Amino acid sequence: MNQVSQIKYVGGCMDTPVLKERGQREVFCGLTGIIWLHRKIQDAFFLVVGSRTCAHLLQSAAGVMIFAEPRFGTAILEEKDLAGMADAHDELDREVEALLSRRPDIKQLFLVGSCPSEVIKLDLSRAAERLTKLYAPAVRVLNYSGSGIETTFTQGEDACLASMVPVLEGSNNSSITKELILVGALPDVVEDQFLKLLNELGISNIKTLPANSKNHAPTIGPNTCFALVQPFLGDTAEALESRGAKRIVAPFPFGEQGTTAWLQAIATEFGIESSKFENVTNAPRSRARKALEAAASLLNGKTVFFFPDSQLEIPLARFLVNECGMTAIEIGSPYVHKSIIGPDLSLIKKGPIISEGQDVDLQLSRCRESKPDITVCGLGLANPLEGEGLTTKWAIELVFTPVHGYEQAGDLAGLFSRPIKRREVLKL
Ligand code: SF4
Repeated sequence: MNQVSQIKYVGGCMDTPVLKERGQREVFCGLTGIIWLHRKIQDAFFLVVGSRTCAHLLQSAAGVMIFAEPRFGTAILEEKDLAGMADAHDELDREVEALLSRRPDIKQLFLVGSCPSEVIKLDLSRAAERLTKLYAPAVRVLNYSGSGIETTFTQGEDACLASMVPVLEGSNNSSITKELILVGALPDVVEDQFLKLLNELGISNIKTLPANSKNHAPTIGPNTCFALVQPFLGDTAEALESRGAKRIVAPFPFGEQGTTAWLQAIATEFGIESSKFENVTNAPRSRARKALEAAASLLNGKTVFFFPDSQLEIPLARFLVNECGMTAIEIGSPYVHKSIIGPDLSLIKKGPIISEGQDVDLQLSRCRESKPDITVCGLGLANPLEGEGLTTKWAIELVFTPVHGYEQAGDLAGLFSRPIKRREVLKL
């Protein structure tokens, strides 16, 4: 099974000139990431230093999921803070003290910047340093920005993970065997499936970032490699590389092709025999292919248009084109980092427009003109486009739903085929 390992990440859409647009954009801010991160990091608390708008965003995005005591909250900046009449640092210290004395389960506290805290130039890194000194070693305080001025919705996770990298402990023991870090928050069920497959391949020295608690955080040493599970983690990848960890370059693990290529790249890095790889992956690969057949038959021959939203667009387009027989008209992404999504780009046959950033009116015109069978976009665009008779898929659902790996390949195709099926039924 050297077929996949021989893939050179060139060709396909790698050479397609990227249409760069820098106009108005319609995307959620990076605070949204807290919704999935607070469930993943069990000993963390996310304290947004923001406005009532930020609090509302979190509350409505989290919806009715919060029954237990939540692991996120908002320290509201009042008008007097914004007008510079109060010392926001003192108030923040008081909030943190009240929070930590009430919640001894909190071991990692993230101070999350927002548009208001940025506008008044509240230095949260200084606050994090001061509070770390005060509460160490019981609690570690970190900071990152989830502000809509700086971040789109999946960038919140990137900023959060990147903030953790400098405090990961070094593993100086160069005699230890290679260690692997899986980077990116995955639903537990998917993470377990990947860990099981990698263990079966013979790779057992594996940690995840984020870990479920401070005590399980990975260490970084001369033998550390890492594989991204999400394409929106460019800053985290850079931070890990700057600490000497080696990135395993691969397509992202969506669908049968992506998952196999991703696992193969890791297996190659760890010197796993191809016969072993075959033995371990054969059964789940054929399960994935079978599951794909049903949903893909509805997608085969249909067209898809991606608005930029989650940065998952290019790997997902690769999946829809190569594994479901669709034709991509335009693949828009907030950022096109070829060093990260290059392997997926190279697997997509030339043809679609690859666009980066957004000028929403221009892009809407292109979309209307091309009349795609399905349009993947944010919530703000989906309703008007549905009203105009186009079939849409909310990009945010693709971030909240388990879609990685072999066992989810059929579900992933189903997320796209269901709206098409619904539209066809409505037409009858
Ligand atoms: S961070 Fe900015 S964009 Fe996000 S909810 Fe707060 S005010 Fe709105």
